[in-house]
Amino acid sequence: MFRAYSGSRLLLRLVGILLIFAIIGMIINQVYMSIIVGCIALLGWHYRQITRLNYWLWKDRKLTPPQGTGSWEGIFNGIYRLQGKNRRRVGQLASILGRFRQGAEALPDAAVVLDSELNILWCNKLAQLLLGFVWPQDSGQRIDNLIRHPDFSAYLKSGKFNEPLELPSPLSDQRLLEIRLMSYGDRQMLLIARDITRINQLEGMRKEFVANVSHELKTPLTVLQGYLEIMQSMEEPDSMNHKPLKLMQQQTRRMQSMVEQLLVLSRIEDGADIDLEKTINMQVMLDILKDEASALAMDQYQLEFICEDNLNCHGNEVQLRSACTNLISNAIRYTEPGGKITIRWELVPSGAKFCVTDTGLGIAPHHISRLTERFYRVDNARSSKTGGSGLGLAIVKHALNHHYSELHITSELEKGSCFSFIIPAHLVIKG
Ligand code: ADP
Repeated sequence: MFRAYSGSRLLLRLVGILLIFAIIGMIINQVYMSIIVGCIALLGWHYRQITRLNYWLWKDRKLTPPQGTGSWEGIFNGIYRLQGKNRRRVGQLASILGRFRQGAEALPDAAVVLDSELNILWCNKLAQLLLGFVWPQDSGQRIDNLIRHPDFSAYLKSGKFNEPLELPSPLSDQRLLEIRLMSYGDRQMLLIARDITRINQLEGMRKEFVANVSHELKTPLTVLQGYLEIMQSMEEPDSMNHKPLKLMQQQTRRMQSMVEQLLVLSRIEDGADIDLEKTINMQVMLDILKDEASALAMDQYQLEFICEDNLNCHGNEVQLRSACTNLISNAIRYTEPGGKITIRWELVPSGAKFCVTDTGLGIAPHHISRLTERFYRVDNARSSKTGGSGLGLAIVKHALNHHYSELHITSELEKGSCFSFIIPAHLVIKG
């Protein structure tokens, strides 16, 4: 059991020693001299203890401090106690670090810890397999010295890490990686890389399948529609077959429009023909949209176009027109006759804004975030009646994606909706 430090005990001991020397001094009739000798002896003894401590701290290999006596006993024992505490703490830290590393090794993704200068501090085994790092040789290397892809350097430079980056693996072009960067702690970064080759292949197969099926369905539907028209023209208006034939024709037309829209969506999703260098003459496009809207509205709606002159943009005309047409036709289809539809094309601080406002049915808030999903419809019965397929807004979303833009929807039930998007300033041409 260690004896803890006690100030009063120390003082008592000092007084005791000086008293002994004073008594000796009184006996030999040399009180002052005896006290001075006592003080020098005491100093000498303390000096010896300091030398022992120094020797142990700097030269001795022993882990335990030397045995102290007197007032030094508490100091040596205190150091021993501190040592034990530190050893326990280091042990705890090592076990936490070990557990963290085991956890990071169990991750299904490659994980790399980077410092504020983007130098590699640590990486797991999957990072070595997916990114080709060699451990521990690559420790301390800058990450962009090891992943030498221009897109990756641009991603690092941009500092915008909300969206992941897709990149071919440095080991093989056949492998596609999804890379995410997150900052944490004291300006450290965590890089997570995931192999998405399989997901990418499946996504490609899905797109190809939808495009092929839609394409293959086109011809049989046209044949069916043709024969139905002939059969209907041969029937008397009051015959028994007249109503079923009319219904069949309606449904075939619906399927044809769905197939058309699926093909449009596949083409837009593919994005192969996108060339953002081309200039779209918005004046011409808005005139076409005006004619289309008037034909759809059939004088039953108040249509208003408020468009800025000489405000054009770069982009793909077919895709942008498809997006605008869908928004305008939706506004007409989901507004009761007599309602008002306003279309605006105007300059705003962040670019050029296209906005369609209607005084129609409106949409309940919980539907809004899902409207751009394929085949998502708020009211199936109404959508079918108006010839909807649930693909219109999915087409809008993909077309806008190619123009660095997104659809913004605000709506209030029974009051109306506003569908808008902003073409970013770098694609806008004013004047
Ligand atoms: P659809 O072909 O069914 O119209 P869309 O993808 O164009 O498919 O639209 C999805 C759903 O969003 C529609 O079914 C409709 O319920 C709702 N919607 C779209 N535009 C409007 C609008 N202007 N007003 C009210 N609801 C709308």
